[in-house]
Amino acid sequence: AWCSGIPKIKLNDGREIPSIGFGTWLGIAKGGQSLEPVVDDSVQKAVEWAIDAGYRHIDTASIYDTEEQIGRAIKNKIDSGVVKREDLFIATKLWNDAHARNEVVPALRESLRKMGLDYVDLFLIHWPLGHSTNMTFNNIDYLDTWQGMIEARDLGLAKSIGVSNFNKEQLDRLVTSSKVVPASLQIEVNLNLQQPALREYCKEKNISVTGYTPFGSLFPNRAGPNAPPPRFNDPALVEIAKKYNKSVPQVALRYLVELGVIPIPKSTTMARLRQNIDIFDFELSQAERDLLKSYDRGYRSVELKLWQQHPYYPFEKN
Ligand code: NDP
Repeated sequence: AWCSGIPKIKLNDGREIPSIGFGTWLGIAKGGQSLEPVVDDSVQKAVEWAIDAGYRHIDTASIYDTEEQIGRAIKNKIDSGVVKREDLFIATKLWNDAHARNEVVPALRESLRKMGLDYVDLFLIHWPLGHSTNMTFNNIDYLDTWQGMIEARDLGLAKSIGVSNFNKEQLDRLVTSSKVVPASLQIEVNLNLQQPALREYCKEKNISVTGYTPFGSLFPNRAGPNAPPPRFNDPALVEIAKKYNKSVPQVALRYLVELGVIPIPKSTTMARLRQNIDIFDFELSQAERDLLKSYDRGYRSVELKLWQQHPYYPFEKN
């Protein structure tokens, strides 16, 4: 493989997760709230390249509409002998319209059917808030949803279970009122949003942290109008990258790994996805880490303002 021997992190349920994953969300369509329509097999190709490059951890969600392509990529790589199922760590997520306790297992079965798998390695509640398919909010308590997640795990359909986009209060409410502590929390983590309080809480409770949108506003095409620096051509970052013969995106990902965060960068470009996993042969200095830390602005790239009025909206309202 292009990059073999990716370190693993131990989960609180005894299992292990690779310390970098591959993101498969195509994003929001330009100028709108709607998801980028999935019109071709670019994700299947990218996942095949990713497995060839050494990625073993793939992140998806039922709402991304990429599970079928991922399933085909996995099948091709298993059939051609590149990997075995047990070498892979596949994560998917429960969408907000299936939060009722008795809807959780059927929703996971549907994801498994689409991917052609008997189990996923990690199943996450995608958001703490519930709504119907037509966006009518409901008050289904995520503690009830969690009971359904435990059932999915007990059935062996998900080896590990966790949550995504929960804030500290929501996560703590879950931890203190359930006998199963989530194995992982998936949240946005990047240079502009370093999440010190949530990471500290997770460390205390032995919950692994997966970092989504790991590049934040590094690339101009993804940076909102008020997004703080740095961009990929920031002189200080370029200098650090040069020193290690790496690129600025690699430095940004390496910083997250050194924080103990599992980044899940998305790319459907072969050269970039290979570059993004090639970050395990250098280490930043303390001074460099301090500089990178100073870019934290508590600035969110993913806010989902359309849910601000939901009682379980997890973020600051503005
Ligand atoms: P990322 O931070 O991974 O950025 C992806 C963008 O960066 C793409 O436009 C990609 O372009 C570009 N890119 C990737 N690598 C490089 C590189 N080395 N040099 C230059 N450009 C690069 O954003 P995402 O929002 O996609 O987050 C990653 C993953 O996290 C998602 O795919 C999804 O799996 C997960 N996620 C989870 C959420 C949740 O609610 N739990 C919310 C958001 C994301 P290109 O593809 O053209 O190469």
